[in-house]
Amino acid sequence: DAVVYWMRMQDMRILDNRALEGASKCARERGIPLLVVFLFSVGDYRAHDRSPRRVDFVLRNLNILKDSLAELHIPLHTFTVEKRKTVPNRIKDLMNEWDVKDLFINVEYEVDELRRDLKLLELSTAAGIRCSVYHDRCLVQPGQIKTKDGKMSSIYTPWMKQWSSAIQSHPDYFKEACAPVANDPSVHKHSMFGPLFHDSIPDAIPGFECEDADKMAELWPAGTDAALKKSANLGDTRIGQYEDQRVRLDMDSSSRLSPYLATGAICARQCVRAVMKKHSNDTFNASRGSGPGVWIQEIGWRDFYTHIMAAYPRVSMGRPYHEKYADVFWEEDVDGKILEAWKEGKTGYPIVDAAMRQCKTQGMFPAPWDSSPASFFMFIDDLILIGYMHNRARMIAAMFLTKDLMIDWRLGERHFMRSFLDGDLGSNNGGWQWCASTGTDPQPWFRIFNPYLQSEKADPQGDYIRHFVPELRKLDNKGMPAEFEKLGYPKPIVDHKFARDRAIRRFKNVGEE
Ligand code: FAD
Repeated sequence: DAVVYWMRMQDMRILDNRALEGASKCARERGIPLLVVFLFSVGDYRAHDRSPRRVDFVLRNLNILKDSLAELHIPLHTFTVEKRKTVPNRIKDLMNEWDVKDLFINVEYEVDELRRDLKLLELSTAAGIRCSVYHDRCLVQPGQIKTKDGKMSSIYTPWMKQWSSAIQSHPDYFKEACAPVANDPSVHKHSMFGPLFHDSIPDAIPGFECEDADKMAELWPAGTDAALKKSANLGDTRIGQYEDQRVRLDMDSSSRLSPYLATGAICARQCVRAVMKKHSNDTFNASRGSGPGVWIQEIGWRDFYTHIMAAYPRVSMGRPYHEKYADVFWEEDVDGKILEAWKEGKTGYPIVDAAMRQCKTQGMFPAPWDSSPASFFMFIDDLILIGYMHNRARMIAAMFLTKDLMIDWRLGERHFMRSFLDGDLGSNNGGWQWCASTGTDPQPWFRIFNPYLQSEKADPQGDYIRHFVPELRKLDNKGMPAEFEKLGYPKPIVDHKFARDRAIRRFKNVGEE
């Protein structure tokens, strides 16, 4: 007999984990061992466009967790399932085999995962297994923020007001960390699950081998300690400047916590708790005009998109939030050349290309260049990371694909998901639909980013561009497209003004063209 916590690839931590806390309490009360189970669902990784970098990050996190769990006398059992439809049965069979009567999980809000867990609940109830389900991912539980008529509030500004006041009036949302967990070593005495029961963790999952695993490990060390260190690095100064600097691509302007939040190596509660502790309780009230307040609102965006995903399963199914925009007339791009130019960072728009080359870069930084002080600073500081992209760069690249190139947002959404370490369906889908103007609280379709103006704001000296687009390294800031060809850099793939008018026309005439 044992109590099982089924850890998933989005709640990979011991500290402050609600389902794990519940499982540990139950095991203690019943005087039986607590086990942790982790399953590699290869079919899900394929269906959900998991990037090899993300899968590798999961494995690295798991290796650290295995040791930490061992210190707490908690065994970790891992196994692999190829066909995702068989997952609920496999878990139920395992519980039966081990004579487990109590299973604990944190909810995953993506539609396939919700369906999987409903099936698991059905099977486990029939088999006499109690399955306890916790809300752990968000600061405020999905479904709690509603309009006056009881519907999901899906406009960000009023939603955010309610979210902020919910957090302030219910400190239990985040103030207290979950109780520490551990097995009493004596529980293993008569149990088949000795403390040495740990399964070995594979080096890679076939089909998801990470080509630049070493570089990723160097840039993105795994585990909760690494996440807490990054979180502490936000410090007073960086978070204080967050409001002013958060659009800057050439500066150390954001936390880079997203891979850790996406795998759950750290949770949103921990982050907000730390910021609130340091920056007093009126952080929320200050909101605009306060770096910490604005930063917490970014965590709010993460909650917001998770709430949307939980309330509107269609967004997890490749459909626009605004169903009307299912009829937008996207370019056909029959031979895929337009999409390819975007992916390769060869659109002839330097800021877009720099972003997309950051997305594409494998395994190493571009070769060293002339040692201008700014570039040198960036190189030694590892300021520019790969396997990741700054929010403004993602917005610029996504807006360009969907508005300037009129390519269907779903192709970009998939490409990002397959490229990054922090791939998260809610935030990725929300970000893409915002840029494509098909989503909730969308960027209105008539407001289209001008890549040159964005470049001036986000990378005023051109350092970010020079870093990722070596052809333009010799060009000063005012370099114009006319000079591009001479430098071996492509001419702009489309005229921005023409593209802007085309996008506006297409959105205006949805269903008519
Ligand atoms: P910070 O600025 O330090 O923000 C702190 C945390 O708040 C982030 O780690 C993240 O968890 C959350 N956050 C910040 N901005 C957003 C936002 N706009 N939406 C949702 N959450 C946010 N984020 C992901 O975690 N995974 C994705 O797959 C993802 N895809 C995106 C795709 C597009 C097209 C766009 C426009 C945005 C996407 N984002 C995604 C949101 C955002 O770009 C990243 O969370 C952010 O760049 C991560 O950097 P950071 O940790 O330094 O963020």
